[in-house]
Amino acid sequence: MIAIDFNNINELIRVLNFQGKEQEELWLTARNIRNNTIGNKVYLRGLIEFSNICRKNCLYCGIRSGNTNVKRYRLSIDEIMECVDFIWNKNIPSIVLQSGELINDEFKEYLINTIKTIKAKYPKIIITLSSGEFDYNFYKLLKDIGIDRYLLRIETSNPDFYSKIHPSDHIFEVRKQCLFDMQKANYQVGTGNMIGIPNQTDLDIINDLKFFINGKFDMFGLGPYIIHTETPLATKENINWWNKNKEVILNKTLNFIAMLRIATPTVNIATATALDVISPNGRTNALKAGANVIMPSITPISNKQNYLLYQNKPNVDDERTTIIAQMENKIKKADMIPAYGEVG
Ligand code: SAH
Ligand code: SF4
Repeated sequence: MIAIDFNNINELIRVLNFQGKEQEELWLTARNIRNNTIGNKVYLRGLIEFSNICRKNCLYCGIRSGNTNVKRYRLSIDEIMECVDFIWNKNIPSIVLQSGELINDEFKEYLINTIKTIKAKYPKIIITLSSGEFDYNFYKLLKDIGIDRYLLRIETSNPDFYSKIHPSDHIFEVRKQCLFDMQKANYQVGTGNMIGIPNQTDLDIINDLKFFINGKFDMFGLGPYIIHTETPLATKENINWWNKNKEVILNKTLNFIAMLRIATPTVNIATATALDVISPNGRTNALKAGANVIMPSITPISNKQNYLLYQNKPNVDDERTTIIAQMENKIKKADMIPAYGEVG
């Protein structure tokens, strides 16, 4: 077991970069803490990427509004229900609805109708929404009609760095306020960051860790940054840098998960799909480093191909049953048990 002084920035930066034996010990510590508190179960969430239409233009994201190569789609409520039926019938009582961000009335109405339809058929299903920034009143309304949880990554806790990876009309303080608004509206709130964005420093990453620990969040979903060539961040220089450093990025992400587990033993920590882009064992190792949630994508194959936030996304051509079998395999490889029928 290793002990970490969470007040010592230099020590945290050193731990973030652990490799070899030290890394093994770090992950073992995190895993033991998880197993002794919340247990060695992995909670599954059926992920439905229901729309790739986005008003935002984040400099890293493949489905940013400025990318005119993307074929835009939005699932109908019937199409979403078909996904939900599949997930429920697999004994997975928890879904994540994710999409690009829109704030017009038509989209809001569609969201409300979708949620009401899901809850009418499956009153006990737990819905997590991840559709970006709204105002307090709309978060509250969504909560009242049956959204239980919300995932909104802060992306980075450094306002200056935030302004370097977003256009000037994407405001850090607004995004942060959304997290507080959701907490006020009694959501279980999840946040996260991307690790390995060019020019992000280790200190930035450690400050994210502190932001997460101090923010009283219920869940975390974080992952490595992955290049998407049709984005402004994918300069030739950045692509070269990223390709040279991707193993380092993966290691940092996994160590970050372990530190987060040690600091916040009972929260839900998800394994980002993006981990598997850098190594086929990415998500398995995240479980070994202390994560406890996995989110198989149940999005119809024809749509999934158009929901590419980053390149080389795994499972894009795989059938749902294949994906679930793969998740089970990852869970087994991490010496854990899939928690079917449980929400976690
Ligand atoms: N539009 C919503 C939800 C969909 S995007 C939102 O932005 O909150 C979900 C997450 O994908 C983002 O929070 C971001 O952290 C991640 N993402 C986007 N582009 C990425 C990339 N190139 N590499 C890794 N993660 C990325
Ligand atoms: Fe839109 Fe989310 Fe991508 Fe930003 S990260 S462009 S908000 S989908």
